[in-house]
Amino acid sequence: MDKSIVVVGSVAFDSIETVHGKTEQTLGGSAVYFSLASSAFTNVKLVGVAGEDFGAENIAKLRAHKIDLEGLEIIKKGKTFHWHGSYDKDYNEALTKKTELNVFETFDPQLPLSYRNTPNIFLANIDPDLQMRVLDQIKKPRLIACDTMNFWITGKKKALLKLLKRVHILFINEMEARMLTGEHNLIKAGHMVLQMGPEVVIVKRGASGATLFTGKERITLPALPVEDVVDPTGAGDSFGGGFMGYISTVKNWRSLNEIKKAMAYGTVISSFNVENFSVSSIYRLKKSAIEKRFKKYTASLKIC
Ligand code: AMP
Repeated sequence: MDKSIVVVGSVAFDSIETVHGKTEQTLGGSAVYFSLASSAFTNVKLVGVAGEDFGAENIAKLRAHKIDLEGLEIIKKGKTFHWHGSYDKDYNEALTKKTELNVFETFDPQLPLSYRNTPNIFLANIDPDLQMRVLDQIKKPRLIACDTMNFWITGKKKALLKLLKRVHILFINEMEARMLTGEHNLIKAGHMVLQMGPEVVIVKRGASGATLFTGKERITLPALPVEDVVDPTGAGDSFGGGFMGYISTVKNWRSLNEIKKAMAYGTVISSFNVENFSVSSIYRLKKSAIEKRFKKYTASLKIC
């Protein structure tokens, strides 16, 4: 069984401010966090764009995790996407101070032939028109999952709604689920998102964990408390990476037990991610450390 994943998303330089300090122009982007997280489980093929300023060092960092970069376009003299965000002390929501699309403004993803038969697809947070263009180039996907954010819900809602009709699993955070549906109550909002197309909706709720909605089930898994949340950037993408990394390796992704296990892996990897700025925690994360925390977490829940 081919267990590989194609991911399209942002490849970025992030400038981040939290109560623990700030970083400038560090490696980030939804596709980067996702790829690093899922590469612990399976082969990941990245689709994205970066400027010449991205540099050989960052390419080498991704290659060290065996991430396939044939689909990463580097634009000569171009500038890499830049996101500047900050968080208040409760980390309730990222406040976007600046989004500089740069090379993303003219990006037209062309998938390498070696990517087109990949069974598992993750459309990470990026312009929904680009997500759709990537999906159109995949021959027979087994599992299509997608993420998004407030920026696209307000700016590109029509394109996003069109895309949702084609995805199996949507990852969305609580605030965004409310924004997408206009419904404040989380349970009602979750069910309304299901009506928009996806078979499964996973609402990411920060310190309150994640809630799964299917036509039949509603299950909440708690977050894994860590001593110090230093930087929550990438928590959602590393959750998606852990989830998709695991679910891509199982025979039946629709099995509720496997979905719960995948949520647990997502929770574990995202708990490592928030312990440090940028990708530094998940960059050096070993599979043995993931398994150790997974065992402890699932034993406390008695679910897997
Ligand atoms: P999250 O997992 O939701 O914390 O995502 C964090 C990542 O999203 C950061 O590394 C940013 O570079 C990236 N990001 C922020 N805004 C956008 C946007 N409008 N489109 C794509 N990626 C973004």
